[in-house]
Amino acid sequence: MRGALGGPRVLLRRLREVMAEPVSAQDRLDKIVVLIAANMVAEVCSVYVLRVDGTLELYATEGLNREAVHQTVLKSHEGLVGLVASEANPINLSEAQAHPAFSYRPETGEEIYHSFLGVPILRAGTTLGVLVVQNRARRTYTEEEEEALLTTSMVLAEMIASGELSALARPGAEPVARHAVHFSGTSLSDGIALGHVVLHEPRVVITNVIADDVPRELKRLEAAVATLRADLDRLVEHRDVVEGGEHRDVLEAYRMFSYDQGWLRKIREAVSTGITAEAAVERVQSDTRARMLRASDPYLRDRLHDLDDLANRLMRVLSGKDHAPSKEQLPDNAIVVARSMGPAALLDYDRKKLRGLILEEGGPTSHVSIVARALGIPAVGEIENATGLVEVGDAIIVDGTTGQVHMRPSSDVEAAYAERVRLRARRQAQYSALRDRPCRTKDGCDITLMINAGLAIDLPHIEETGAAGVGLFRTELQFLVANALPRTGEQLSLYRTVLDAAGRLPVIFRTLDIGGDKVLPYLRNIEEENRALGWRAIRLGLDRPGLLRSQVRALLRAAGGRHLRVMFPMIATVEEFDQAKSLVEIELTHLRRHGHTLPERVEIGTMVEVPSLLFQLDELLDRVDFLSVGSNDLMQFLYAADRGNTRVAGRFDPLSTPVLRALKEIADKGKVHGKPVSLCGELASQPIGALALAILGYRSMSLSPSAVGPVKALLLDLDCGKGEKEILPLLERPVGSVSVREKLESFAAAEGLQL
Ligand code: PEP
Ligand code: MG
Repeated sequence: MRGALGGPRVLLRRLREVMAEPVSAQDRLDKIVVLIAANMVAEVCSVYVLRVDGTLELYATEGLNREAVHQTVLKSHEGLVGLVASEANPINLSEAQAHPAFSYRPETGEEIYHSFLGVPILRAGTTLGVLVVQNRARRTYTEEEEEALLTTSMVLAEMIASGELSALARPGAEPVARHAVHFSGTSLSDGIALGHVVLHEPRVVITNVIADDVPRELKRLEAAVATLRADLDRLVEHRDVVEGGEHRDVLEAYRMFSYDQGWLRKIREAVSTGITAEAAVERVQSDTRARMLRASDPYLRDRLHDLDDLANRLMRVLSGKDHAPSKEQLPDNAIVVARSMGPAALLDYDRKKLRGLILEEGGPTSHVSIVARALGIPAVGEIENATGLVEVGDAIIVDGTTGQVHMRPSSDVEAAYAERVRLRARRQAQYSALRDRPCRTKDGCDITLMINAGLAIDLPHIEETGAAGVGLFRTELQFLVANALPRTGEQLSLYRTVLDAAGRLPVIFRTLDIGGDKVLPYLRNIEEENRALGWRAIRLGLDRPGLLRSQVRALLRAAGGRHLRVMFPMIATVEEFDQAKSLVEIELTHLRRHGHTLPERVEIGTMVEVPSLLFQLDELLDRVDFLSVGSNDLMQFLYAADRGNTRVAGRFDPLSTPVLRALKEIADKGKVHGKPVSLCGELASQPIGALALAILGYRSMSLSPSAVGPVKALLLDLDCGKGEKEILPLLERPVGSVSVREKLESFAAAEGLQL
């Protein structure tokens, strides 16, 4: 840097000394601005800190009027400083006053300065403040100077993030870093938890920003890049096993980016300004994150995400740190915060300590959400930049019921939530008291309540809830949470464990329902325009029967000497059912021939989730042993509304006349044919849905385990006959004359039923 006193390396070294001095926060800041101004031959150097109210407060200055410190407060978009903060980009001008955003505060006396260089103070992509240098003369700051100022701002970012400056702030005007923030995301798993932040991919804490030996740092960087590439090559080439459940195409993108010359050049340049390789990666990563948060183009955002992940990997190679937080470090009430996560990674955490999960990505159908629900831990997704906004150990509340997240909550928010947790626990105790009571309505109708499950971790729920069995065992979950295709032996062992846990209670195993939104990371995925309507579930099973046959064999062997119930997903025609059933018979014959112990009895049924079955019920019921309605898919197909798309999800009501008529038709036909009909979609897990189903004639339902208590409490208080009289006639009336949901609600209110 020409004209500078000693260049950036000397400045960094002096800053290191100032950071170590035992002085007050204000004195430290004052010394820092003096040092920077002197080193950069600038007449002015100022630090603005972003506050919780979104404004920027002048915290220190060399060159402007000292009286303006803590007095001058700029709005978030005010002037050039506001622009640097809102765009998270440097602004470098030889004639600042000619810029349309220029404005000045007379109390600072800055009108005499013409040149301006402002850089954002960034941490993990989040703007914490702005660092500015100014000169009277019209000069252009060199690229090197801009780089040096950005590097310097990292030291300030650490200082702000440490909370040191909070002591200088007025209440309500604290620095945004380290303060209470509240976000709304998507609810992934029900429940409320209070705890402390654990970063799934902990930021490597850089203890040494300033390099002692730049050529050595450059060498370390090159070596780490080589290791990173070799690691990625190995992962991509390894066909079956995928680390942490990451998709192969993501790894391929990482590999491509690891050769991106622009990215590598930026990191090398940052090292050349005098910082360590780790600090350089962090600087470039912070810049990438800031761009990512502001990018509206989804493609660009994805690519920036990839670059961000790649920087994490490179950082881990450089620091030699393992990426999973070690078990001993886990606090007793850990709330894990992650960009995204595979299901297996969540299962690796100590269950006794894991309380909640917060993700930047991840929808309700993501595999990790399925596992969070099975573990019964609250989870919220779609919290933008969650990992950048928290520090390890921060207090945090996750409300999976409403999708809210409170970071560093105030004491009254914390107290309110603690009260809600106590209330929920009390209600849970009331439900537990109902555990051994038979589920019989007030007027004597017996209703069988079973649970939905899919993993071994679900099995204790049978006992806990007092359920009458497992009405839907989603076998694909074992496949979804695995890193590689589960072998027949592994399937067999899971099915045996399930049957052992259930004892004399029935379990309905559903054969693999993969495809659609259930994508297996280790299999190459076929691109389909419309996956929900594509090659999935039984369609795949019948066209490529290898996987289905080995699964059926595992089921038959696991149930040797016992009663086996199997059901097929996504059957659309009776022929498909016949084909699938004959496949089971072939496997039975095969096992018999090889002398295996066969199940004492095999019952075969199907899900009713494709509307075409509504018009083949008589033929279907002649063939099956039982039916189970999949209301999640049936709803999506009846209304042609993607079940995972929030834009259309609220548009159609499962408690509307067309759906209820269809459901009633299925229950009625089941009775005529003397075949059991159950329902295992989400509808049965909502008390109002279960109420409707009981009234429609459903005498068996399969629910998520957490719903058994509330649904049972409601059914015990229900006079089913009265409900039938009030609600069923509504289904005969012309559609549109009355909302069935409202009627159900007013019926429940009049009867004192808790929805
Ligand atoms: C359904 O579609 O209602 C169902 C129970 O199956 P899944 O949610 O697994 O598709
Ligand atoms: Mg389904």
